[in-house]
Amino acid sequence: MKKTDIAVVGCGALGAGIAYNIAKLGRKPLVFEAKYFGYGSTGRDIGVVRGRHRDPDVAKLASEGLKLHEKLPDELGSNTLFRQDGVLTVALTSEEAEALEKEFKSYASGSFIELSRDEVRSRYPYLRVDDVKLCYLSSREGLVHPLAVLWGYLDAVRRLGGEVVKPAEVISIEPKGDKLNIKTALGEYEASKVVVAAGFRSRELLSKLGIDIPLEPLAKEALVTEPMRPFLDPVIERPGTGLVVAQTMRGEVIGTVGSLGKTSDLTLS
Ligand SMILES: Cc1cc2nc3c(=O)[nH]c(=O)nc-3n(C[C@H](O)[C@H](O)[C@H](O)COP(=O)(O)OP(=O)(O)OC[C@H]3O[C@@H](n4cnc5c(N)ncnc54)[C@H](O)[C@@H]3O)c2cc1C
Repeated sequence: MKKTDIAVVGCGALGAGIAYNIAKLGRKPLVFEAKYFGYGSTGRDIGVVRGRHRDPDVAKLASEGLKLHEKLPDELGSNTLFRQDGVLTVALTSEEAEALEKEFKSYASGSFIELSRDEVRSRYPYLRVDDVKLCYLSSREGLVHPLAVLWGYLDAVRRLGGEVVKPAEVISIEPKGDKLNIKTALGEYEASKVVVAAGFRSRELLSKLGIDIPLEPLAKEALVTEPMRPFLDPVIERPGTGLVVAQTMRGEVIGTVGSLGKTSDLTLS
């Protein structure tokens, strides 16, 4: 049976990022991925990076996340394709404008600017601005390539002596003395510590250990067009609707309209 100091279950952005931070401490994580890199949400992620959030606790994380994305390419020695072309938050009704103004008042001044309708028109001539009631530009925010982040972390984990095995679905984690026994599709492993970062599947793995975390899978869809001539620099969002539109560096225009709600079968969405 192979033994390891610390194992990480799941190799999405979170598992890979955690494994990297463990490896940076001089330890050698063993990472298990059930399918392929980017199989989970990370491979479907639009990549919008914001430094703000209405919930003050999440806002602290968002602010740190933005700083992290700014320094990550240098730290990993790998281009994460982070484009700081800004996020344009646009209110199209008086109610939206009122709520937006109130929300942005709670954010640090200097992290965004208000654009008049004329300024929006001159900066982004391809946008129809007649209905714009209020518009803020958060210019440090933007788009990252989630798979480039994942690959950057993975390369760094391997460089630092960590190991990633796939396809290696973890079937169960069971206590064995002061260690943990990990049953996988590739055989059994023993670890002193295990980090579970298996996305929405974390709940079922942890429930077998008597740990219940309130994670529910939510379906979310993204519309992706064929690649088009690049024209859309910022990410555009409309508050209260979940609407987000952006253009990737390959030219695809992508958009979402928020969550489709709870589902037990994500293959349906
Ligand atoms: C359509 C869409 C758009 C999104 N857009 C954005 C956005 O613009 N900005 C943003 O910040 N966030 C966005 N998100 C959210 C973001 O993608 C997720 O928060 C993030 O990817 C979660 O990463 P993760 O590593 O926790 O999970 P995942 O990426 O789901 O990774 C979990 C991994 O664990 C593996 N796994 C599962 N079970 C096991 C097992 N038993 N054994 C071994 N491996 C296992 C899976 O195969 C998977 O690879 C979006 C999500 C979706 C679906």
